[in-house]
Amino acid sequence: MTSMNRKPLLSLENLKVYYYTDEGVVKAVDSVSFNMDRGETVGLVGESGSGKSTLGLSILRLIPPPGKIVGGKVFFDGIDLTALSEDEMRKVRGKRIGMVFQDPMTSLNPLMKVGDHIVETIVSHEGVPREKAVERACSLLEDVGILPERFNDYPHQLSGGMRQRIMIALALCLKPDLVIADEPTSALDVIVQYQILELMRKLKQVYGMGLILITHDVSIVAEVADRIAIMYAGQLVEYSDVNSFFNSPLHPYSEALLESIPNIQLSDQKLKYIPGIPPSLINPPKGCRFHVRCPYAEHRCGEVEPQTVEFERGRFVKCFRYVE
Ligand code: ATP
Ligand code: SF4
Repeated sequence: MTSMNRKPLLSLENLKVYYYTDEGVVKAVDSVSFNMDRGETVGLVGESGSGKSTLGLSILRLIPPPGKIVGGKVFFDGIDLTALSEDEMRKVRGKRIGMVFQDPMTSLNPLMKVGDHIVETIVSHEGVPREKAVERACSLLEDVGILPERFNDYPHQLSGGMRQRIMIALALCLKPDLVIADEPTSALDVIVQYQILELMRKLKQVYGMGLILITHDVSIVAEVADRIAIMYAGQLVEYSDVNSFFNSPLHPYSEALLESIPNIQLSDQKLKYIPGIPPSLINPPKGCRFHVRCPYAEHRCGEVEPQTVEFERGRFVKCFRYVE
């Protein structure tokens, strides 16, 4: 879907990921397609439960049961990840695609020194001698703003922001082409959040990797991303470069999202909230999934699902307002 001719770094084609629960089938990701190029940052935004984490995990094929990829393809550097064996997939994880999660404590071993996490990862994937790996780990710690003397600290001895820096170093230590960061700053206070975002922006320039930044906070995307992908109820409703998006969002849901961002320059401004609640992903509404909350809804919106159209080069939207 991008305008570049060369092979995209990542290409999702009609990806479907469902959870088979006792209550019914949760269609968490339902026919999502987009392309991203090398070195780009894509901000993946949506309300809680819109399928963002599921989408991130499915690229790495880490969907927990009862979830399953039930359709579509994930091409990474031209390779269809959905067709790889589990062994082949293990070589992609970490080495070619790194991941940063919201809570570093779930990914760090409390009994292992933080530096050793990085050393072990380098040694086990690349088989280099330990001294070399220690050297690289120290230089990575420096890159993420941690003094080398913290190498021997255990995770609990570090602050939340420092632990997240370690996670970023871990995600980068095998020099991946893509990093998926799922709400990497939402557990941190505002100042640390800003520092971590700044760090990620700086590291992107040094390491040149692509980044998918999953967040419910659209203002973060304005700060760091090249493109924005808006998810609503398991579907991608808009995909655009960041400048065009913030100048003129296309989808009514995107419009509502932008109106809900507090603007600190307008102190008496009344924030608008998006009325209604996100729909069930077990029985999503017929037609456009946003129709029950959409101020522009017309009769067909509740009857027929709109197709995604390319409104302008590289700008995609799923709404009847843009269908000829
Ligand atoms: P959040 O920001 O709250 O993490 P999200 O946009 O990342 O939300 P997902 O966590 O991907 O959304 O969830 C999408 C849908 O899939 C939700 O309806 C959720 O309840 C469901 N879901 C997620 N994980 C599971 C699971 N392990 N078992 C069953 N349903 C799940
Ligand atoms: Fe609104 Fe209709 Fe567009 Fe859906 S298709 S967003 S209901 S105008």
